[in-house]
Amino acid sequence: MKKNKFQSPTGMHDILPEDQKYFRKIYELCEEMANFYEFERIETPILEDTELFSRGVGIGTDIVEKQMFTFKTRGGDYLTLRPEGTAPIVRAYIEHGMQNLPQPLKLWYFGPYFRAERPQFGRYRQFWQFGFETIGEEGPVIDVQIIQVFYNLLKELKFKNLVVALNSIGCSQCRPYFKKILASYFRNRESSLCADCGRRLRENPLRILDCKEEKCQMVVSQAPQMLDHLCESCHRHFKEVLEFFDDLSLPYALSPYLVRGLDYYTKTVFEISEDSEEGKKVGALTGGGRYDNLARILGGKPTPGCGGASGIERILILMKGKKLRFSQSPFPKIFLAQLGDLAKRKSLILVEEFRKIRIPVSESLGRDSLKAQLNRANRIGAKFALILGQKEALEGSVIIKDMETGRQDLVKFEKAVEEMKKRLKK
Ligand code: AMP
Repeated sequence: MKKNKFQSPTGMHDILPEDQKYFRKIYELCEEMANFYEFERIETPILEDTELFSRGVGIGTDIVEKQMFTFKTRGGDYLTLRPEGTAPIVRAYIEHGMQNLPQPLKLWYFGPYFRAERPQFGRYRQFWQFGFETIGEEGPVIDVQIIQVFYNLLKELKFKNLVVALNSIGCSQCRPYFKKILASYFRNRESSLCADCGRRLRENPLRILDCKEEKCQMVVSQAPQMLDHLCESCHRHFKEVLEFFDDLSLPYALSPYLVRGLDYYTKTVFEISEDSEEGKKVGALTGGGRYDNLARILGGKPTPGCGGASGIERILILMKGKKLRFSQSPFPKIFLAQLGDLAKRKSLILVEEFRKIRIPVSESLGRDSLKAQLNRANRIGAKFALILGQKEALEGSVIIKDMETGRQDLVKFEKAVEEMKKRLKK
C-alpha cells in the first residue's frame, strides 16, 4: 500500500470519534471523584521553562536526560513540552501564592503530555494523563486518599485484579545514607551490570533498581532495601500508610525496589496496574508518590505534597476488553428533510429557530434525495419528519409527518416551530 505523504508524528496519534466515548467516560469519572473528594481543576500551559523540569524532575533522570521535547525560542529561551504534570502544578502553586489559601490544596488535571520515548505498545510520545495532587499536608492519610481516588476510579471502570505496588524511598535524611549502602553493593557486582547501570552507579545508584535489563534485575533482586534503612520519621509515616490501607481493606503489594524515575519523590511511592495478561503488556496505569522537597527545589517555601497520574491511553486499551455501559444522548425526535435550493435555505433558518429554544433536530442538508432523508429519519427513530419540498418552500408551508402513524399535516412555515413544541409536549 502506498504510504500517505503526511502522517501523524511518530508516537503521536489522532483520537478518533470512536474513541471519544472512552475519553468522555474517564473524564466524567474524574469529575465525579474530584467533586466528591473536593479537588479543584487546574490546567497549566503545555510549554514550560526547560529548567522547571531539569530542576524539578531532576538532571540524570530518563525524562530529563532523554525524553524532553525542547526548543529554543526566537528570543533565546528554552521551552519544553511538558513531560509530566506535577512540577508545573507546584510552579503554579508558588507563582499564584496558593500557600495563602486554606491548606491542603487539592487539585486535578486532564490533558496531553509529551516524552520522546521509543514508541511501543502502551508507550507514546504524546499521551494523555489525568492526575490528582494534594499540596500542603504531610500526614500519611493524604497518601492513602490519593491512592484511593485512583483505585476507586479504576474500579468504577470495571478494572478487576488491581495491584497497588507500594514502597517508601525515604527522605533527604535517610536516602543519602541508603544510596551509599546501595552503591557499595552494586560496586562489588559492577561486572554483572549493563553499561548504562555502570554509569548510573556513579550518578544515582537508585536508578539501577529501575533497569529493565534481565542481568541487572538479577543483581537487583538481592540488593539492600530502602525499607530496612528508613529514618524514624519515614518509618513511622510508612507504617501509618500501611495501617490505613488495612483499615480500608485496600489490597497492596510491598515493592521494595519500586523507586520511580523522577527525583522529586520522597517517602511513599506507588504504582497501580492490572494483574492480567493484557494488563502486564500495557504496564502501570497509575504512578505517583509524595514530593515533600519539590516546592523548595522550585524556589518556594518548603511545602509537602503528594499526588499521582494515570495514563489514559493505557486505561483505554484495557477498557476496550470490558463490558462497559456508555450513556448515549438520545437521537432528536425531529428530522428535517428538504428538497431544492430554496428549501435548503429555509431549512437553515428552521434549524436555528429550533436551536434557540433548545429543541434538537437532525438533518441531512447536503442530501437531495427525499427518500434517503426519510430513510434516515426512520433509522434514527425520529417521531416527526418536517418536510420542506420545492412546493412547500415556495408556498411558505411545511409538512409535518408523524412517523408512527404516517399522518401528514400542512402548517405555515412561521408556525412550524410552535406546532412542534406543542406536539412534543403531548
Ligand atoms: P509517570 O508520570 O511516569 O509516573 O506516569 C504516570 C502514568 O502515565 C503511567 O503509569 C502511565 O500510565 C502513563 N504514561 C507515562 N508515560 C507514558 C507514555 N510514554 N505513553 C503512555 N502512557 C504513559
